[in-house]
Amino acid sequence: MAVLGYVSLRQWETSAELLFREQARDVAAMAAEKVEMMLRHAEDAFLDRVQAALEGGDVSAPTLDALLAQAPLVRRLYLVDRRGALLYPAAWRDDDARVFEPVLGRVARGFRERGGKRVLVDGQVCLAVVLRARAEPVLVAYSRDVDVLRRDILQTALAALESATIVAVLDQDGRPVYSRGPLERAERVLSVSFRDDLPSWRVAVYAPPGASPRAAVRRQVMVFMGAFGVLLVVIAAGTVLTWRLTRRETEMARLKSDFVANVSHDLKTPLSVIRMFGETLEMGRVSDDARRQEYFRVITREAERLSRLIDNVLDFSRIEGGRQRYDVTPTAVEPLVRDTLEAFAYPLGQQGFKVEVRVAPDLPEVPMDADAVGQALANLVDNAIKYSGDDRAVSVEARIEGADLALSVADRGIGVPKAEHARIFEKFYRVGRSDTQGRRGSGVGLALVRHVAEAHGGRVTVESAPGAGSRFTIRLPLRARDGR
Ligand code: ADP
Repeated sequence: MAVLGYVSLRQWETSAELLFREQARDVAAMAAEKVEMMLRHAEDAFLDRVQAALEGGDVSAPTLDALLAQAPLVRRLYLVDRRGALLYPAAWRDDDARVFEPVLGRVARGFRERGGKRVLVDGQVCLAVVLRARAEPVLVAYSRDVDVLRRDILQTALAALESATIVAVLDQDGRPVYSRGPLERAERVLSVSFRDDLPSWRVAVYAPPGASPRAAVRRQVMVFMGAFGVLLVVIAAGTVLTWRLTRRETEMARLKSDFVANVSHDLKTPLSVIRMFGETLEMGRVSDDARRQEYFRVITREAERLSRLIDNVLDFSRIEGGRQRYDVTPTAVEPLVRDTLEAFAYPLGQQGFKVEVRVAPDLPEVPMDADAVGQALANLVDNAIKYSGDDRAVSVEARIEGADLALSVADRGIGVPKAEHARIFEKFYRVGRSDTQGRRGSGVGLALVRHVAEAHGGRVTVESAPGAGSRFTIRLPLRARDGR
C-alpha cells in the first residue's frame, strides 16, 4: 500500500509539474511580449518626433532638449552625421564618448544608408537612422533610463498580469530589475529571453514558497507517511492485543482442564477411602470396637470433605452463572467460628496442628449469609492446613476493625510470593506447580472467598511471604449495605 501510494504520488507530481511549467512558459511569453510592445511603442513615438524635427530641418539644441525632456525613458541622446561628427549636443557628456563612440564606429555603412530599423547594441546603446528627403541621413543614438523603464514599462505591463506565480525581469547579469513579489525564498520555475528590444534580459517565473507542485507533493507525502505510520501503530497495537487475548484464553483453557483433572482427583481420593473402609466393615473383619469406631470416623470425615468440595464447585458454578443468592441475617460470630473449626478437628488433631482461636468478647451479631461465610472460612482453614510445612500452627481470629468485622486465618506454611498475591484470588489459578507440589486443589477456593466477601460489601486481603506463612483476612461491614 505504501509503495502504491508513493508511486501514484510521484506520477501525480510529474504531471502536475509538467502542467505547471507549461502554464509558467505561457505567462512568461505573454509578459515578454507585452513589455516589448509597450517599449517599442514608447520608443517609436519618440523617434517619430525626432524624425519630424529633423525633416523640418530643425536640429537646434533647444528643440531637441525639449523633445528629450518629454521622453523620460531616453536618458541620453546623440545625433551623428555620416562622417561621424557630433550634431547634437555639442559635446559628449560625462564619459558617454567611451560608451557610444565604439558602438558608432562599428555601425555598418549599409545600415546608415538604408535607415529605419532600430538596433540595440551592448544592451545599453540603441541606434536608429533617420533618412531625410533633401539632406543626408542622421544617426540617432540613445540610451535608456533603467529606473523609468522599470516604472513606466515593466511595472505597467506586468503588474496587471493575472497569475499565481511571481513574474520578474532579470538583467544581463541575472540580477532582478523588477519583480512582482519577494524572491528570497521563491523557487525559479523557468525563464524566457526577450527578443530584439531587450536582447540580453530575460523574463523569469518564480513559484512562491510552498506553492510549487513539488512542495505540494512533499506535503502530501508527509501526510501520507503520517497516516501510514498511524495505521502501522494501530495494526501493531491490534496484533499485540489479540496475541495477549489469545494467550489469556489459552491459559484459561489450560487452567480449566487442570481444574477438571484436580476436581476429579479430589473426588476420587475420599471416595476410594470411603469404599475401602466401608467394604472392610461390611465383611465384618473388624472385631475390635475401637477400630470400628475409628473406621466410621474416617468415613464421616471423608464424606464431609467430599460435600465441602462439591459445595465449592456447585457454588462456584452458581456464581459463574450469576445465580448465587445470599440470605443475609444477623449472625452470632463466635458459634460460626467454632462450628467451622469443629469440622476440621480431626485432621488438625491428627496432623498435630497447634490451634489458636481468638474471638473478641462482646461481638455484636453481624449481618451475613452464615452458610456462605462459614464456607469461606472453611476454605481458608483448609488452605492453612494444606499449605503448611513442618511448622504446623493455625490461628483464627475475629475482631472489630473500624466499621468491619475482621475474620483472619493465619498459618506458618509455605507462603505466597508478593507477585502472586492478586492472582491467587482468580478462578482456577494456583501458584506454580513446584510450590504447591503434592497438594491437590481446584483453584476455586479463594475465588469463592473473594466473591462471598464482596457480595457482603466487604473484601478479602492477604499478607504473606514465601516461608513466612500467610494471613488471610475477610472484612465484612457491621452494617449491611442496604442499611439493615
Ligand atoms: P486451591 O484449591 O489450589 O487451594 P485456592 O483458590 O484455595 O485453590 O488457592 C489458590 C492458590 O493460592 C493455591 O493453589 C495456593 O498456591 C495459594 N494459597 C492459598 N492459600 C494459601 C496458604 N494458606 N498458604 C500458601 N499458599 C496458599
